[in-house]
Amino acid sequence: MKVLVIGGGAREHALCRSLSLDPDVTALHCAPGNAGIAEVAELHQVDALDGAAVARLAGDLEADLVVVGPEAPLVAGVADAVRAAGIPCFGPSGQAARLEGSKAFAKDVMASAGVPTARSYVCTTPAEIDEALDAFGAPYVVKDDGLAAGKGVVVTDDLEQARAHALSCERVVIEEYLDGPEVSLFAITDGTTVLPLTPAQDFKRALDGDEGPNTGGMGAYSPLPWADPKLVDEVMATVLQPTVDELRRRGTPFSGLLYAGLAITSRGVRVIEFNARFGDPETQVVLARLRTPLAGVLLHAANGTLDSEPPLTWRDEAAVTVVVAAHAYPGTPRTGDPITGLDEVAERDAPHAYVLHAGTKRDGDAVVSAGGRVLSVTATGEDLAQARERAYAAVGRIRLDGSQYRTDIARAAAEQR
Ligand code: AMP
Repeated sequence: MKVLVIGGGAREHALCRSLSLDPDVTALHCAPGNAGIAEVAELHQVDALDGAAVARLAGDLEADLVVVGPEAPLVAGVADAVRAAGIPCFGPSGQAARLEGSKAFAKDVMASAGVPTARSYVCTTPAEIDEALDAFGAPYVVKDDGLAAGKGVVVTDDLEQARAHALSCERVVIEEYLDGPEVSLFAITDGTTVLPLTPAQDFKRALDGDEGPNTGGMGAYSPLPWADPKLVDEVMATVLQPTVDELRRRGTPFSGLLYAGLAITSRGVRVIEFNARFGDPETQVVLARLRTPLAGVLLHAANGTLDSEPPLTWRDEAAVTVVVAAHAYPGTPRTGDPITGLDEVAERDAPHAYVLHAGTKRDGDAVVSAGGRVLSVTATGEDLAQARERAYAAVGRIRLDGSQYRTDIARAAAEQR
């Protein structure tokens, strides 16, 4: 099978790593990729938002499967363009990707499907905004309706800040605050059959102790020793299958990766958000634990034949990812700094720990930073404590001037064991 992966973050490196280990994959391509992905796939330049260009590249490469990593190309309809060219594509249509692209659309689907989520109002006028903020009270949860790369959500006790954010959006969802730990659960679906993956937890804030600004994600771990073993079955029955069924009923079936961001509240599980693609950094830990070869599952999802696929199987191991970010991230990051120590990790820590690249590129013989989140250092172990130890040992060998990482990824969960 010849596979083309679209994207260039650590999520795509994790996907490419798993695909490169799959004996069914005979050729692996990635566009645009990064310095780490270049070690397992052939890189190509393409405008990932240009469906025609992606379809042309896939055609030229005679790809049997295209896997679209990030949300922006999906919302822009890149998967539609690839499928229209007759090439199987893992990723939802532009219409179905609105589940992520529009918070209001997601709320409407959840209401129709009876999926438990925060009560909410969709507001477009200052009067509606004031009424909604007043109805829920603090803490205020204010979400820009459109795609905002994780930066459209404000959770605050400050009424003026909540109001200012709401007024800055064209359309805004204001909702009830959900208390309780968060879980990310992914599912692979062909629009009818749904295969759940394994739960993970990510760390959204920049600093230890969940302080500092929101980021794309600073680390993740799996499994969740504190979670109810029945959680996956419950979320399948109350969230994932009903949502997939509702989108099919509407004539816009969702095929690809359905990501449920959940809050485990005292009143039960509630959906915080849906995403229409693999989450970053949770993918890094989820794929580290996946035993089933990946390519066939993704192809079955793309072809609508997922019912022939047995349940996924998982390694009885824990996985931890620690994100190494550039100076000033999540503000404007400094780029172009050399990264060293990568060879040392490969020599001393493999196979249990390895480095997945995000914002990196080659500059002559050197690897230099090229984005906010630079590396996802991932490790497996018998339990979370061992995976954590290995991940942080590898992080300690890496040198990147001004870089930052959290020191408490998976700490509380590892101590619980
Ligand atoms: P979202 O982009 O919808 O995932 O929101 C980003 C983050 O804001 C989530 O991961 C939560 O930590 C937080 N958040 C979103 N909605 C709520 C809510 N209703 N109650 C509490 N926290 C929320």
